[in-house]
Amino acid sequence: MVQYYCPYCNPKYQFKKQSSKGTLICGLCGEDLVKKPFIRLNQIIALVAASSLLLPLIYTLIFLIKNQINPPNKNYQANNTLMIIIKEKLS
Ligand SMILES: [Zn+2]
Repeated sequence: MVQYYCPYCNPKYQFKKQSSKGTLICGLCGEDLVKKPFIRLNQIIALVAASSLLLPLIYTLIFLIKNQINPPNKNYQANNTLMIIIKEKLS
């Protein structure tokens, strides 16, 4: 459904009226109503801006949670050197 709005009046107090010609006019000021676009350009820009801020945050959170559940083996290098030392002593 296409929505109409008056660009001059407060959207809170707007009401539609049918003019004598059959077109929709604003009940407050009598101006012709303008079609409301389905997705406005500034909505797209806002969405891109918000996602550019939120996506790295979400990615970091996922990464942190993943590390909490399955922590990377930090002692791998230390264990490896220890094993080499033990092997050298045994041989
Ligand atoms: Zn109006």
